[in-house]
Amino acid sequence: MTQQVRFDQDLIKRYDVSGPRYTSYPTAVQFHEGFDTVAYEMIAAASNAELIPRPLSLYVHLPFCHSLCYYCGCTKKITRHPEHGAVYLEHLLREVQMQGRLFDRDRMVDQLHFGGGTPTFFDDAQLTQLMEHLRDAFTLQPSAEREFSIELDPRTVDPQRLETLSSLGFNRISLGVQDFDPAVQQAVNRIQSKQETLALIDYSRDLGFESISLDLIYGLPLQTVESFDKTLDTVLDARPDRLAVYNYAHMPQLFRAQRMINEEDVPTPATKLQLMELTIKRLIDAGYVFIGMDHFALPDDELTLAQREGKLQRNFQGYSTHKECDLVGLGVSSIGKIGDCYAQNLKTIPTWQGAVHAGELPIWRGVTLGTEDRLRRSIIESIMCHGELRYGDFEQRYGIEFEEHFTPEVQRLDPLEQDGLIELEAGGFTVTPAGRLLLRNIAMLFDEYLSRSEQPQRFSRVI
Ligand code: SF4
Repeated sequence: MTQQVRFDQDLIKRYDVSGPRYTSYPTAVQFHEGFDTVAYEMIAAASNAELIPRPLSLYVHLPFCHSLCYYCGCTKKITRHPEHGAVYLEHLLREVQMQGRLFDRDRMVDQLHFGGGTPTFFDDAQLTQLMEHLRDAFTLQPSAEREFSIELDPRTVDPQRLETLSSLGFNRISLGVQDFDPAVQQAVNRIQSKQETLALIDYSRDLGFESISLDLIYGLPLQTVESFDKTLDTVLDARPDRLAVYNYAHMPQLFRAQRMINEEDVPTPATKLQLMELTIKRLIDAGYVFIGMDHFALPDDELTLAQREGKLQRNFQGYSTHKECDLVGLGVSSIGKIGDCYAQNLKTIPTWQGAVHAGELPIWRGVTLGTEDRLRRSIIESIMCHGELRYGDFEQRYGIEFEEHFTPEVQRLDPLEQDGLIELEAGGFTVTPAGRLLLRNIAMLFDEYLSRSEQPQRFSRVI
């Protein structure tokens, strides 16, 4: 994908509509409750019976946090009571056992991710117990090839905790920073010192963590171009391997926590665009590869290599490696992807715990992809991950004549070319430097459900 990015404010404003982030296709809106535990057990069995069964990736959702960040739109529970976490963990261990029985033991877990909430809400003994159960139920990759990561809230981690996480087998960490500016931190109720965060980064390098990822957010209250520039100075000095820089979408009508934010402190759309431009420019100038959407990585990072080798994928964590794995979701509301199916666990802690307590897999809903879905998923992934589409690739794989199969979609590419988002060539197109910021808009053309839907969509805005 081209590393050049061209900012055209008018174009960006014109294309700033609501749209999916394509962490799955079809998106979660298409998941339905007809896909139940029986369907899930069947696809798990079928995935074991493949000629060469795929390795596994596990996502473990740990949804508790000690305090509320006012910008938060995640599924989480704020509590100061450790016993809530203990009850949750007890059920999670049972789910791990149930899920583990469904997958053959010769299917290695190459990738593991603990996400939140705040996974480090749980203490070392609890995380150790969880890891032991995962080892009992699945075959975890012992070699350095494994990619075992955990999201850390620097406010809940000290050097000794880092040592424990390393000894448990984690070799990657992702740190929530958002902004180093004290006034911004105060406005979003997330106060963490720069020194603490930088010390953790240094120590995790000493301990041999192979990849360190930082999350930032632009568009937070009280942020200015000057203040965020200083945050970027600090971040670039620390030189993490990966950066995810998210756009803050202020939607207090949807997310209660955001009602704590003073509307007047939220940067204007024009400032947000400047913040985005500043971030992308500074990171690219500092040698980071702009992977796409909100992700950046150093040139030798696996994410960059996966993109170069055509092995990058979109999943529920954004851009990710290990496209070849089946993904097993564990914990409340988590989403898995097995073969050609997506499956999501029950969405609230009481319903999820209730199912596990009754000895049932806590599957809520899902979807099985048909041939047309798989075709469109590959197309959307090619646009989102590689910024191009080569019709011939799909003609061979799916036995179609691309321009005939997608006549209306191909016609709708013309205005995108006129606006400078893509460059049409014989047998395909390439996303231009201006189109790099509007990947979603281009991908949306091939979303069959979006074009059919008459319902207002509940997606965030493209910018
Ligand atoms: S942003 Fe993260 S740490 Fe803060 S409340 Fe949300 S899930 Fe918890």
